[in-house]
Amino acid sequence: MHKEDCLFCKIIAGDIPSTKVFEDENFLAFEDVNPQMPVHTLIVPKNHYDNIADDVPDEELGKLFNTVKKVADIKGISESGFRVIVNTNDDACQSVHHLHVHVLGGGQMNDGSPAL
Ligand code: AMP
Repeated sequence: MHKEDCLFCKIIAGDIPSTKVFEDENFLAFEDVNPQMPVHTLIVPKNHYDNIADDVPDEELGKLFNTVKKVADIKGISESGFRVIVNTNDDACQSVHHLHVHVLGGGQMNDGSPAL
């Protein structure tokens, strides 16, 4: 499942470059181009879903959140802690309409930031 004119589908296809962190048959994780924390990695399913409210199969959601742990391990933030954000639609200011998980860490967030 691939959507024309979707930025993240183009990154998955390799048509737009990204800095890869992790990849398997279902997901690609890459560095956010505008990091809000020392660690700011995005995880995207290779299947296109507009967002988390887009009838994503349970199995795919489960695998997606298991991938969060893998990415946190790769980035070395599993012990120190990290934040997971899934912006969904307009009120949450979702700017790329392909389901993605932000994994943020590498610093203390007790000042309330970042609120992506
Ligand atoms: P959201 O606002 O939740 O839709 O997040 C979209 C994220 O994608 C933002 O944090 C952007 O910085 C990031 N982004 C946009 N274009 C790219 C790109 N070409 N490579 C990596 N990250 C990107």
